[in-house]
Amino acid sequence: MFELNEKVRNLKPYDPITGKYQIRLDANESFVTPSQELREQIDEELRHIHFNRYPDPFANDVRKAFADLYGVPRSCVMAGNGSDEVISVVMNAFLQKGDTVVTLSPDFSMYAFYASLVECRVVTVEKNADCTVDVDRVIETCNREHARMLVFSNPCNPTSLVLAREAVRKIVSSVQALVVLDEAYMDFSDQSLLSEFAGYDNLLILKTCSKALGMAAIRLGFAVGTEKLIDVLQAVKSPYNVNTLTQAIGTVVLSNPGYLNAAVQRILESRDELYEGFLQLQEAHPGAQLRIFKPDANFVYIQTPKAAEIFEYLKEKGIIVRLTGGCLRISAGRNYENEAVLREVGEYLKGANA
Ligand SMILES: *Cc1c(COP(=O)(O)O)cnc(C)c1O
Repeated sequence: MFELNEKVRNLKPYDPITGKYQIRLDANESFVTPSQELREQIDEELRHIHFNRYPDPFANDVRKAFADLYGVPRSCVMAGNGSDEVISVVMNAFLQKGDTVVTLSPDFSMYAFYASLVECRVVTVEKNADCTVDVDRVIETCNREHARMLVFSNPCNPTSLVLAREAVRKIVSSVQALVVLDEAYMDFSDQSLLSEFAGYDNLLILKTCSKALGMAAIRLGFAVGTEKLIDVLQAVKSPYNVNTLTQAIGTVVLSNPGYLNAAVQRILESRDELYEGFLQLQEAHPGAQLRIFKPDANFVYIQTPKAAEIFEYLKEKGIIVRLTGGCLRISAGRNYENEAVLREVGEYLKGANA
């Protein structure tokens, strides 16, 4: 009988909640979609696709568009099929079986998953009770454990908190490890290290088109680092990892900085509305012990002993949010979506006499 190996024996496919729910605020997607004009530009590009040909293996046009938008050289950018693929390529490239990877908790769960596939040891540094990062403890742990890689998101998914640039600088320059800094949500904040990546030979910054840019459907993510690191990623990735349609659409959208900036403004307004709404619920229902973190990304993170009950109650009402480690993570949505989630959480708390 064929025996499955240990590392895959207990794996389950990634299984987000599917089904018909009116309101989905569980995946930190954008509610902003390209304008009519942008859609027409995209349609025009798609009309000229050569479906019989393989994609450009170097994804040159889309890397150039990304590089110009963020002010980095194209030669320091690698493109992937979503940053999920980029994380997997990064780990395949820079880790070997038995290496140690340091992650933070809470943080994005995919880091530990991909590390386990390359048979690495994962050491987790717990965040403080207020979800802030103990920078010295992170540095000390990396160096004590001889970590080959440190990976974390900034701003953090799920806490929505940003770590100040100065603190990130201190980490990168104090550890021997390769630091994989996932800036998936940095368009919503202002503490990016992207403009100074070239000063560090142990830093890779990850970006995605799935969040602020609202392009989760096309699967497009990037890594930025010194040419030495990027050349390795280009050699390790599969040759045609970014398909031609994605390259074409990504090039159009990334070449329109006006779209990104306007989208970020709208999303931040929505996020603030959602955050303020929860602060009001907190005041009105002290019994619920809502702890609401001041968000630096496009979602709000709420600690409460009632998290699981609220999650189920919302689901009953056709609203999906993310329940994660006893907390709720709620993406900023359209006005009516924010209003609906606030109204229903309010109803729940009234009913629970909280
Ligand atoms: C959503 C998210 C990503 C993006 O993943 P894609 O594969 O590009 O859609 C990456 N990192 C974090 C922390 C995220 O929350």
